[in-house]
Amino acid sequence: MLKGKTAVVTGAAKGIGKGIALAFAEQGCNIVLNYRSSVAEETIQEIEAKGVKCLPVQGDVSDFAFAGDLMKQVKKELGSIDILVNNAGITRDMLLMRMKEEEFDSVIDTNLKGTFNMIRHASSIMLKQRSGVIINMASVVGVMGNAGQANYAASKAGIIGLTKSVAKELAQRGITCNAIAPGFVETDMTAVLTDEQKEKMMEVIPLRRYGQVEDIARAAVFFAENTYITGQVLNVDGGMVM
Ligand code: NAD
Repeated sequence: MLKGKTAVVTGAAKGIGKGIALAFAEQGCNIVLNYRSSVAEETIQEIEAKGVKCLPVQGDVSDFAFAGDLMKQVKKELGSIDILVNNAGITRDMLLMRMKEEEFDSVIDTNLKGTFNMIRHASSIMLKQRSGVIINMASVVGVMGNAGQANYAASKAGIIGLTKSVAKELAQRGITCNAIAPGFVETDMTAVLTDEQKEKMMEVIPLRRYGQVEDIARAAVFFAENTYITGQVLNVDGGMVM
C-alpha cells in the first residue's frame, strides 16, 4: 500500500528517525533522509538494500528557507511528497531558574519551529496532490510536563497544538496530521541519563521495559496506512500516560 510513495524523514541519521526511515523503506517507500551534520554511508546503503531510492539532504530544520529548498528538491527529484515525518529534535535540559535564553530558544527553534517550517512548505505540495500524511514527533513530556525540561515540554506541547490545528485545516484536502508521543526510548538522547534516573523512569513504565526505535517506527507506519485517522496523539510509552 505504501510502495512507491515518498517519505521525508527529518533528523534521520540515527535513533528514532533512522528507525522510521528503515521501516518506510521496508514498506517500499523512497526515502528522503534529512540530517543536520553527517550521515553514515552504511545507513544510506541499508535503506537502498531494501530496493528503494534514498536521497540524503543535509540541513537544519529550524531554517525556514532550507525547508522550502528541501521540498522543492524532493518534488523535482522524486515527483511527490506523500509522507512527512517531523522527527528532528533536541534537548537542552536545565531547571527553569538556571535556564539560559539560548537554551529555551534553540529547543523551540528546532523542535517546534522546525516542525512548522517543514509542514508549511510540504503542505503546499500536498494540497495540490490532494493527499498527504504528516506525522510529528511529540513526547509524553509535552502532555505531562517534566521538571528540568520546561523548554522541551513547551516545544512538544506546542507540537500537539500544531498537529491538531493542521489536521483541522488540511483535512478537507485529504491530508492527515497526527503526532506520536514516545515515552522513554533507548537512543543517544536518553543515553546521557544516569543509571539512577533510568531506574526511576522504569518505575513509572507499567510494561517495565524501555521503548525501542522499532516501537515508534511501527506507529509511524500505522499512521501512514490508516488515513481515516487525523488530529490524534498516540502515546507509545509502555503505559506511562494513562
Ligand atoms: P537522537 O538525538 O538520537 O536523534 C535526533 C536526531 O535529530 C539526530 O540525528 C540529530 O542530528 C537530528 N537533529 C537535531 N537537530 C536538528 C536540526 N536542527 N535539523 C535536522 N536534524 C536535527 O534522538 P531520538 O531519541 O532519536 O529522538 C528523535 C525524536 O523523538 C525527537 O524529536 C525527540 O524529541 C523525540 N522523542 C524521543 C524520546 C526518547 O526517549 N528517545 C522520547 C520522546 C520523544
